[in-house]
Amino acid sequence: MKRICVDMDEVMADALGEHLLRYNQHFGEQVTLEDLQGKWLWEVVSVDRHEVLEAYLRSEDFFDVLAVMPESQRVLRRLQMNYEVFIATAAMEVPTSFQAKYRWLAKHFPFIPASHIVYCGDKSILRADYLIDDNPRQLRRFKGEGILYSSPHNMGVTGYKRVNDWLDVEQGGGLDTQRWVRPPVLRKRARWSHPGLRQRTA
Ligand SMILES: [Mg+2]
Repeated sequence: MKRICVDMDEVMADALGEHLLRYNQHFGEQVTLEDLQGKWLWEVVSVDRHEVLEAYLRSEDFFDVLAVMPESQRVLRRLQMNYEVFIATAAMEVPTSFQAKYRWLAKHFPFIPASHIVYCGDKSILRADYLIDDNPRQLRRFKGEGILYSSPHNMGVTGYKRVNDWLDVEQGGGLDTQRWVRPPVLRKRARWSHPGLRQRTA
């Protein structure tokens, strides 16, 4: 079974949304995702405010409240039928986040065992066939096939297969989906398919 590593922030968890919300509330600004096209939040916020930006990440509750990226739970469950799925987060960048990140994963992705969660720094250490990540720096170092998950900061980046959301991942997104196990689908029957009804309406 092939192995796939999945980044957490900006791929499974909407960290940027929360970061932006806190920044805007604190400074009374209205920075939007559109303002961040091709830029990290750090690049649009003046240097004298960086300390506050950093403090949000270190605050106890930051990672606890992050929204789950739409469809990520369902698609990751499906990926598990076809791949060995590991979560690989560069948690070393914010060591105070360890526990909150673990709580968040246990709450929203209880189907991913603790044995399949990797806290790391440099993702070149990972041995996997694929890595889905929003950070081109990590994809460059990764030895397998990198898949770039769209985030405002990476919109100008080329050279990787790109997925815009989890539906893109499900529909292929650079993965070899030909061999995916199809989960059984119980389709709803159309009303007219009932033999008795068909007779009456014929
Ligand atoms: Mg990330």
